[in-house]
Amino acid sequence: MENFPSVLESIDDLSKRQIDGVLGLAHRIKNRSDTPFHFSNKTPIIATSFLENSTRTKHSFEIAISKLGCTYIDFNSEKSSLKKGESLEQTLLTLNDQGVDLCIIRTSVSNQLAEFKEKPPIKIINGGDGVNEHPTQALLDVFTLIECGIKLDGKTFCIAGDNIHSRVGHSLIKLLPQFGVKVLLFGPNAFQPKKLPAGVEVTYNRDEVLKKADILYLLRVQTERHDDKEDNKVLDYAKDYGFTLEMIESLKNKIPVLHPGPANIGVEICHELINSKYYLGHVQVRNSIYLRMALIQAMLQNGAKNIGFNENNIFKF
Ligand code: ASP
Repeated sequence: MENFPSVLESIDDLSKRQIDGVLGLAHRIKNRSDTPFHFSNKTPIIATSFLENSTRTKHSFEIAISKLGCTYIDFNSEKSSLKKGESLEQTLLTLNDQGVDLCIIRTSVSNQLAEFKEKPPIKIINGGDGVNEHPTQALLDVFTLIECGIKLDGKTFCIAGDNIHSRVGHSLIKLLPQFGVKVLLFGPNAFQPKKLPAGVEVTYNRDEVLKKADILYLLRVQTERHDDKEDNKVLDYAKDYGFTLEMIESLKNKIPVLHPGPANIGVEICHELINSKYYLGHVQVRNSIYLRMALIQAMLQNGAKNIGFNENNIFKF
């Protein structure tokens, strides 16, 4: 596989060849058709540092790490020197000095990881940074669609919900067009980006979504990123922007419904739809393990080498 970036912050950090390579590797891992990953010198040590809440992403990475046979460290930021005023960069350099090979980081600060690209303190995978990006979620979503045999080229993929505050949405918008997918955004006007990337359209009409969409991707309203004024805009969310089983059943050609989770039942999705055969949320969670195993493997095997503190910078005493 083509050499991987040391810091995977954004979908933009990967070439289409690298994306296809990771998807292929994830498929082979899932089907056990790849020879097991053999570590050359030592068992890699991988840390997760979740500076913001998570259920799916953190556990999925933990399970992926253990299935790869790596040593796992759950870096507890609350009990670390970050609380004593140490910068994230110095903390990551310390982990690197201790022999940690890769750190998966979630942070509430958008773009916080971009600064590490030039001189990586350690290999990093972005596990979601503020409202910026969540690249591994977008990759596992595409992986899930491919694994389900859903053709992507020429299809219309509707991302419905709080697109402006969703890091998942931002990564999907960058990834999907690379597979020939047309992206249609839907939701309250206040929650849609004012500037749309080329090839991305927006609608405020749910009937248009049901008419045009081949794949429906629902997003949670990201209330933790709103001020109170914005929260008032979602009072009638379910009535005007939510999706029900009836709506999907009314379609001549039924469509898959995806969600990155956590879902707010009774808001963007109704109880019957989340429990229906059209809902792929559980398949996404299952596939997340294989996709993240593949990514970790690719980063460990192929990542660039000039990482962390350079010994040659020390004065010769
Ligand atoms: N779990 C996803 C994220 O961390 C989606 C969400 O929270 O709505 O961004």
